Amino acid sequence: MTLVYAEIITIGDELLIGQVVDTNSAFIASELNRVGISVRKLLSIPDKANDIIDTLDETIQRSNIVIITGGLGPTSDDITKLTLTNYFNGRLIEDATVLRDIEAFFRMRGMLISERNRKQAEIPDVCKPLRNKNGTAPGMLFNKDGKLIFSLPGVPFEMKALLLDEVIPFIQKHFILPVKIHSTILTVGLSESYTADHIKDWEESLGPEYGLAYLPSPGVLRLRLSISGDNTDQLNRQLIDKMNELSVLLGANHVFGFDDETLQQVIGNLLKVTHSSLSLAESCTGGYIAHLVTSVPGASEYFKGSVTAYANEAKTGILKVPPDIIENDGAVSEAAVIKMAAGTKELFNTDYSIATSGIAGPGGGSEAKPVGTTWIAIATPVGVTAQKFLFGDHRERNITRASLTALNMLRLQIISQHKK
Ligand code: ATP
Ligand code: MG
Repeated sequence: MTLVYAEIITIGDELLIGQVVDTNSAFIASELNRVGISVRKLLSIPDKANDIIDTLDETIQRSNIVIITGGLGPTSDDITKLTLTNYFNGRLIEDATVLRDIEAFFRMRGMLISERNRKQAEIPDVCKPLRNKNGTAPGMLFNKDGKLIFSLPGVPFEMKALLLDEVIPFIQKHFILPVKIHSTILTVGLSESYTADHIKDWEESLGPEYGLAYLPSPGVLRLRLSISGDNTDQLNRQLIDKMNELSVLLGANHVFGFDDETLQQVIGNLLKVTHSSLSLAESCTGGYIAHLVTSVPGASEYFKGSVTAYANEAKTGILKVPPDIIENDGAVSEAAVIKMAAGTKELFNTDYSIATSGIAGPGGGSEAKPVGTTWIAIATPVGVTAQKFLFGDHRERNITRASLTALNMLRLQIISQHKK
């Protein structure tokens, strides 16, 4: 199976001074990937004829498809159309269909067409125009020795409609594209570098038809495996086999789901099928776990409530943590989180509870308890377990990591309770 390569060129001075963020490239790249086209390079260049010509020379040589956005407007800084006309040895001539489209565009808005806009109906006689339903500049398709060069407007919603309605269907007819499918494995508590070392042999044994992407975010590491070829059923079977191998390698303690699942959804399902209820006592996470849990529709079936026990008085008063524990061990301690978890479980009368207490930072650390020190306890129908973590010195990331780690500990406890 020969791969079809594409490159994307975004044109506009505004992109190079950081005034406009190039979202067009990301959109186009993701849509091309979805249909099995390999995107080789993304290039952003100024509204300058020389840069456009040089970049076209390079990209047409390397790739089968080039997609250009920007610079098609009616103003003098928009020079893409003229440059492409010269580049492909064409002449600008008025196109009757494009003119009708532009006239209709203005009529619908109760406006008269200006000379400047009428000029937009002039297109190179060496291109196939692509109808733009949302604007005045048509897209253009050039064919150079079997290589396809598309020029699209820069305005994102005009570009998107043209890409999806015209460009991709045309490409799919013109090339035989490989089938490309993906699956994503979701893990919690694994770092990118540890994982890369741990699965090194497996990753190296993957054939060239596979691609593995590490997608890290605080607390959660996603690994997306893709495979391309031409037989969808066979690719699906191969992908499932490889995902199973990866899942075993990473371990059930870390792997909580696949594709678009979230940890809070997984927890929700586990609590539902086991007819169990949950309560929380959050100090350092300040309600973030409650937010995650309640972001799942139907959480009222299992979630009873939460105490954001930030001050020591809230821990001793509401959750009945004995004051001498706070005095002797401190609020960030094993003894304190165990009592917090037991206290909230009793208060809300639930089967499970989670308690967190830690030093989120940036201040408040000491030698014995540096910033990032976090204790998490899980109370189950049969007892309470607690674990200490050292998360680091970034407050927001600590809150996220502590919350996801706590939910994962709960997940493992529910599973082990119901295995028995
Ligand atoms: P039009 O015919 O509608 O004027 P155009 O092809 O001339 O389109 P530009 O003038 O280059 O497009 O860009 C129009 C607007 O589209 C810019 O002001 C910018 O906000 C947005 N835009 C252009 N390029 C990009 C890009 N790569 N990513 C995101 N937005 C972009
Ligand atoms: Mg521009």
